[in-house]
Amino acid sequence: MKALLRLGVMMLTLCLTVWGLALAAEGEGKASRKTIVLVAGKPSHGPGDHEHNAGMLLLQKCLKNVAGVKPVVHLNGWPKDPTAFDNADAIVLFMDGGGGHLLLQGNRLEQFAQLMKKGVGLACIHYALTVPKDKGGPELLDWIGGYCEQGYSVWPFWTAEFKSLPKHPITRGVKPFTLRDEWYYNMRFRPGMKGVLSILKAVPPDNTRGTAAAKKHPGRAETVAWAVERPAGGRGFGFTGAHFHNNWGRDEFRKLVLNALLWTAHVEVPANGVQSSVSPEELRENLDPK
Ligand SMILES: [Zn+2]
Repeated sequence: MKALLRLGVMMLTLCLTVWGLALAAEGEGKASRKTIVLVAGKPSHGPGDHEHNAGMLLLQKCLKNVAGVKPVVHLNGWPKDPTAFDNADAIVLFMDGGGGHLLLQGNRLEQFAQLMKKGVGLACIHYALTVPKDKGGPELLDWIGGYCEQGYSVWPFWTAEFKSLPKHPITRGVKPFTLRDEWYYNMRFRPGMKGVLSILKAVPPDNTRGTAAAKKHPGRAETVAWAVERPAGGRGFGFTGAHFHNNWGRDEFRKLVLNALLWTAHVEVPANGVQSSVSPEELRENLDPK
């Protein structure tokens, strides 16, 4: 009888230990996950273009399969929850830009300045890179190294041929590729590109050089995606493509951006990059109402 009792106690102890270990492992898993907050602006362009909501939902879906990452999406504009960015390791903005850029409203620039000081990563995609040079411009130069300046930069549609890619965590597993998009270029970068690393470079047709500043550099390979490490430790990423929603269906394009989001959140990028797949059906999901 005593032996049975002892066996019972042993079994119970064993069960509790296993349960405790499982809980600890789960807690640790949660604590070590990095939070990537994706913010999608309101619908703006025609069907298939600037699909902010559908685009961010696709990237979230892909990131959900990545170990160590917790992707959180806010749709249809700036998050109403004032604590939305409190636990962010990186923030992604995909929204309309210009004077009405959501980042410029209220005290958001000040809020972001605090976050950036803490080392939070920031990625701006496509139109979200466009800010006025006197408001938002200086901040983006500081946080991500460059921005799209009206009257200086250009945003034509062209087919970019990325013939070679630099060795960097963001390009892991990405092969050279060719793709048509509204690749903005002649971006306003920090003087001398200080601290800015070109990730994607291609030579645009000279007839797309639509500003006096862009015309000064015929034949030049232009940077359309770049990475920055801020002195305080935070990381920034700028990506001028993604006008066409269907481009997320291209493996190289999608992988490069997914890698970049991990990198800005200080998550180790897998040796062959982030693995994901997006079907034609998935590309038709969540599109803005026509
Ligand atoms: Zn566009």
